Amino acid sequence: MGPDKQLDGGVLRANVAAFAALGAPVAAVVKNDGYGWGARRLARELDGVVESFVVGDLDELAALRPATAKPIRLLSDAPPGMLGRLLDLGGIPNVSTRTALAEAAGEAARRGGLTVRIGVLDGALWSAVAPQDARSFATSVAEAGLAVELWTHISSATRAGAILDGFLAAQRSFEAAGVRIVSLDATATSAARHGLAFDRLRVGVGLFGSRLGASVDTACALRINAPIVRRIGPGERAWAGYGDTPIPANRPAVVLRCGYGDGLPRGFSGSADILSVGMQYTVRLTSEDRDPCELIGGHDDVDALAARAGITPHELVIGLAPR
Ligand SMILES: *Cc1c(COP(=O)(O)O)cnc(C)c1O
Repeated sequence: MGPDKQLDGGVLRANVAAFAALGAPVAAVVKNDGYGWGARRLARELDGVVESFVVGDLDELAALRPATAKPIRLLSDAPPGMLGRLLDLGGIPNVSTRTALAEAAGEAARRGGLTVRIGVLDGALWSAVAPQDARSFATSVAEAGLAVELWTHISSATRAGAILDGFLAAQRSFEAAGVRIVSLDATATSAARHGLAFDRLRVGVGLFGSRLGASVDTACALRINAPIVRRIGPGERAWAGYGDTPIPANRPAVVLRCGYGDGLPRGFSGSADILSVGMQYTVRLTSEDRDPCELIGGHDDVDALAARAGITPHELVIGLAPR
């Protein structure tokens, strides 16, 4: 039997409240099937406390819709020809290309108006309009009669000022073109703060307890408990795993049924009380005799754990998800 992996629903909801205290409601980002933990499962826990949900694409919208009646925003454009289906599912579409814009104009005419999301950002990973193209895009959006939720993403701490300048300049261009701007949202977990909250905060990894430098009072929502498969008493001689790490003769240790095959970062090896993380088993120095043994719980700090493993909190959370 492998490790038991749970999320603490109360902590998830408290984390939403901690971000909302920055002055704007929280849109829960549940892309990549809820960071691996299940978008529907997160929706069941969070539906009562979030303003909306954010998914990656149309397939994720279709999968999530049965679990919530809240607005669901999309991060990427609908595939060509699929905007009607997206709207029928109650998704708020993203538009970043002229092709997507033309299709949105058609749907707006058919439906008597339409609100779309338009991002202003020069990051290749996101479906957004480059800041220098915003003005001419705004003119076409005005002609199409679309209302707009304008967004950006502070994808770099050092370029945060430039990204925001581009965003606010785009807002002025859209207003000058006569476009109705319905809302503004600019930040994910890492840049979340009072002055930047605008109309909503898009929080993904922060739901699980990460702060990434934001000053919010979150806690770790991950609960990973692993069965003890063997105890190594003081005085017993053994090596911790591959390589040459001895188990200190004077310290009790346990072998836990959880390894990097279960998403526990191999980078934990040799840090804190963990001697070695193998594919299925972990050797840990502890006199703890509760079985299963808590590997990650409420007293942990998601960002500190990720730093210890040399990975991002996103990788930690996604890696540890049940599969
Ligand atoms: C993934 C993503 C988020 C959520 O990011 P976190 O760092 O997990 O909070 C927010 N906005 C956009 C545009 C994203 O791509």
